[in-house]
Amino acid sequence: MQLTIDDALRERLANLRELGRAKIRPLGLEADRLGRPVPPDDPFYGLLLKLGLGRTRWLGGAEPSGGERSKREARSAGPSLTGVLLSEELAYWDRGVAVSFPGPGLGEPPVLAMGTEAQKERFLAPFQAPDRPRWGSFAMTEPGAGSDVAAIRASARRDGDHWILNGDKSFAANASRADWIVVWATVDPTQGRAGHRAFVVERDTPGLGDFVIEKKMGLKGYESTSFTLRDCRVGADCLLGGEEHYARRAGFKGAMKSFNATRPMIGAMAVGIGRAALDAAVDFAREHERLGDPRVRDRLERTRRKLRSARLLCWRAAWLADRERPNVVEASMAKAIAPAAALEATILGMELLGAVGGRGDHLIEKLFRDVKAMDIVEGTGQIQRLIIARHLVHLPRD
Ligand SMILES: Cc1cc2nc3c(=O)[nH]c(=O)nc-3n(C[C@H](O)[C@H](O)[C@H](O)COP(=O)(O)OP(=O)(O)OC[C@H]3O[C@@H](n4cnc5c(N)ncnc54)[C@H](O)[C@@H]3O)c2cc1C
Repeated sequence: MQLTIDDALRERLANLRELGRAKIRPLGLEADRLGRPVPPDDPFYGLLLKLGLGRTRWLGGAEPSGGERSKREARSAGPSLTGVLLSEELAYWDRGVAVSFPGPGLGEPPVLAMGTEAQKERFLAPFQAPDRPRWGSFAMTEPGAGSDVAAIRASARRDGDHWILNGDKSFAANASRADWIVVWATVDPTQGRAGHRAFVVERDTPGLGDFVIEKKMGLKGYESTSFTLRDCRVGADCLLGGEEHYARRAGFKGAMKSFNATRPMIGAMAVGIGRAALDAAVDFAREHERLGDPRVRDRLERTRRKLRSARLLCWRAAWLADRERPNVVEASMAKAIAPAAALEATILGMELLGAVGGRGDHLIEKLFRDVKAMDIVEGTGQIQRLIIARHLVHLPRD
C-alpha cells in the first residue's frame, strides 16, 4: 500500500487544522450549546467557498483517463484517500460542522456512480465553481426502514415523461437547505432491492416539503431532516442512470457502491472524534497530575493504539477504492472498528473527568454524545459485522 502524500495535500491539511482551531471547533461548540445547526446563511460558508471548498469531486470534461489516473494515484493519494485524510482532520475539530459544509455531500457518490453524463453535468456542474453555498443530500432512510433498506416504502410510479413520488424520509443530512436530494423509492415493494430507483429531486419541486430538523443527542452542527413527498412529480431525466441502469439490475448495487466509497470516510471521522477526545483526556490527566498513574497511562496508550489501527483500516479501504479494486470487506471493517475505538476514547475521557463530565459543559462530554452516531450512520456496527461475516465465513444472507 502506497501512502505517500504530496506537499499540496500536506498544505491542505495544515490549512484545515488552522481553520478547525479558529472557526470549526468554536462553531461546533456554539451549535451544541444552542441546540441548532449552523444556519445556511452563516458567513462561515461564504468563507469556505473563498477557500475553494464546497465543490464537487467531479472534473467534468477534464476527467483524466484510467491510465493517467492510476499513474497519478501511484504517486500520491487519490480522491478517496484524500477524502479520508481531510475527513479525519475536519472531524477532529467538529464532525457536525464538517457535515454541514456546502457541497454535494452524500448525494455525490450515487450521482457519480450511477448518473449519466448529462445528469452529472446538470447536478454537479453548479458545484464546480459555486456562486453561493450549495448543498446536495441523500435520503434513503424512512421511519420504517433503516438498516433493512429493502423495506423502503416511498413509491415511484411512471406517468408518461414523469415519475410521481410519494413517501416519508427521515434523517437526511442537509436536506432542507439542499439544491437537490437523491431520493430512493421503490416501483414495487414486493421486489425488494430490485424495485429500488434513485431520483434527484430538486428544491422547490411541488410535493416536496414538510421539512423538520430532527432532535439529535450530538453532532448538532448540521441538520438531519425528515421530509415528505406528496404526489411529487419529477421528469424522467431525474431517474439516476435512466431506465437502462435498472434493467441491468444495478439499482441497489449503485447505493452499495456509494457506501463502499463513503464508509472509510465515516470511519476516519470517528477516528478524528476519538483523537480529539483522547487529546483532551491527556490534557485533563496532565493538569490533574494523573499521568503518573500506570493504570491511566496504560488505558491512554491502549486507546491510542486502537485508534491508530482503525485509521490504518480506513486508509487501506480508501486506497483500494482509489484503484477501483473491491473493498467491501475493508470498508465494512473500517466502519465497524473505528467508531468502537472512538467511543472507547470518549468513555475513557468521561471516566477521567469524573464529576466534571457530569456537568455537561466539557468538550469530552460533547464528543461522547457526538460519537454515538458514527456507529449508526451508513450501516450500523452490527450490519458491518454481518457484511464482513458474509464475505469471510460465507454467513448465509438470511
Ligand atoms: C446522525 C444521523 C445521520 C443520518 N444521516 C442520514 C442521511 O443523511 N441519509 C439517510 O438516508 N439516512 C441517514 N441516517 C439514518 C441511518 O442510516 C439509520 O439510522 C441507520 O441505517 C439505522 O437505521 P435505524 O435507525 O432505523 O435502526 P434499525 O435498523 O431499526 O436498527 C436498530 C438496531 O437493530 C440492529 N439491527 C438491525 N438489523 C439487524 C440485523 N439484521 N442483524 C443484527 N442487528 C440488526 C441495528 O444494528 C441497531 O442496533 C442518519 C442517522 C443518524 C443517527
